[in-house]
Amino acid sequence: MPFVLSLDEGTTSARAAVYDRQGRRIAMSTRAFNCQYPQPGWVEQDAEEIWRLQIEAAREAIAQVCTTPNEIAALGITNQRETVVVWDKVTGKPIAPAIVWQCRRTAQYCTTLAQSSDAKLIEERSGLVIDAYFSASKIRWLLHNVHNSAQRAANGELLFGNIDTWLIWNLTGGRCHVTDVTNASRTMLMDLESGDWDDHLLRIFEIPRAMLPKIVPSSGIVGETDAAILGAAIPISGIAGDQQAALAGQACFRPGLSKNTYGTGCFALLHSGAKPPHSRNRLLATRAASMGGKAFAVEGSVFVAGAAVQWLRDQLGLIATAGESEQMAESLPDNGGVYVVPAFVGLGAPHWDSNARGLVCGLTRGAGKAHIVRAALESIAFQTRDLVSAMESDSGEPLKELRVDGGASMNNFLMQFQADLLGRPIVRPTDSETTALGAAYLAGVATGFFSGQQELESFWQADRRWEPAISEDHRKQLIAEWNQAVARTRA
Ligand code: ADP
Repeated sequence: MPFVLSLDEGTTSARAAVYDRQGRRIAMSTRAFNCQYPQPGWVEQDAEEIWRLQIEAAREAIAQVCTTPNEIAALGITNQRETVVVWDKVTGKPIAPAIVWQCRRTAQYCTTLAQSSDAKLIEERSGLVIDAYFSASKIRWLLHNVHNSAQRAANGELLFGNIDTWLIWNLTGGRCHVTDVTNASRTMLMDLESGDWDDHLLRIFEIPRAMLPKIVPSSGIVGETDAAILGAAIPISGIAGDQQAALAGQACFRPGLSKNTYGTGCFALLHSGAKPPHSRNRLLATRAASMGGKAFAVEGSVFVAGAAVQWLRDQLGLIATAGESEQMAESLPDNGGVYVVPAFVGLGAPHWDSNARGLVCGLTRGAGKAHIVRAALESIAFQTRDLVSAMESDSGEPLKELRVDGGASMNNFLMQFQADLLGRPIVRPTDSETTALGAAYLAGVATGFFSGQQELESFWQADRRWEPAISEDHRKQLIAEWNQAVARTRA
């Protein structure tokens, strides 16, 4: 029986999942790993450890269902985006720890860059907002701070990769140095429209082309795994950054379809078709994973979503588990006018205010624990609504529905409230591991394991659907009260 193997390399774990011809997940294996925080704001990982644990997870998942690794017909990869590895082309050794997407070490440089005359060109070409989050300033930092590395990179002795590239290079015994267009679109070095590295951007960040991987489509065979690693030579045929993989795993292949992932933060992506979107609301323009031709998406993120529930649990001690928040919120008929704005690290799109700080407001003598818990959950939905309305204003079209996944999408109160606030249906699929699934789809279509988009669309099944159930007046009132609370965080 042939299967597809998906490697899902996240920020906190490396996972591997095996899928059958109906797109059903039949095996999964996980290895957790840590970050290092060598200085305040710095976040690093050991790229060699990531590689080792990813392979352990892959071998374990294969062994759960296959009699021989030859049964794996295709391999897809999805990964934490923007994280930077630079390594020696001959020895394969990283020259420094991987700089993780969350790392703020280049924040000062990015602030200066954002005020420079290059800022407009950078944002227009890349579709991104200048920030330390993206790969370019991190690569530049390594070339400026690791002895002799700028010269060695220019000589072609060093290679750069995000984690997809690093894993593929190792899986192929150093034969393939590639990345896909979705990952490349998060480096701030790619021309979003053409899909190639941009010489202007490379010059601004002082990065030699010689160290960059070749950009390939997200679905297509790029090489074969070295047979010594997984026990068979397996075609590597799907690659996408985690959020774009989730968009594919949610079968959002057409313009107007969107997904929101409710994890620590929220990531909302709206498929916007074959032309690059231009946001008037400072949302990001990015590449979507496609199985033929160019595809783009608009992306927005909420910094503190599920993290607000962790705050209720760990800082305030109001709940013992995240799941309890659901019954507590439902124990009240309404929010009683209490609002929590979890602007713990400022506010993202569409407000973009890094100086905003969180607040709890609207307290009366009758307000209790349950009000705070409910307000924190509601804040996740309000912030998502702010993103979605920015997306709708950019695209000029209302969303048909929002497909959801991630840990906090298990909260039924939150999902109903989200539908109420958006005035649009919310749909949660049966397989909520959409990231790994998306990589499997991209890999499977490239090798003919899956027949194409239509078949994948037929696999997508709703587990539960929530319809808006409040009046337009009530919705307007809630949004007005939320907006007042947000305004107070920005004083
Ligand atoms: P990540 O991939 O960012 O680690 P997950 O998708 O695993 O996140 O989701 C974990 C987050 O979701 C945590 O912040 C947790 O507080 C939140 N969460 C998990 N279950 C629930 C729940 N039932 N209700 C509300 N929040 C939840």
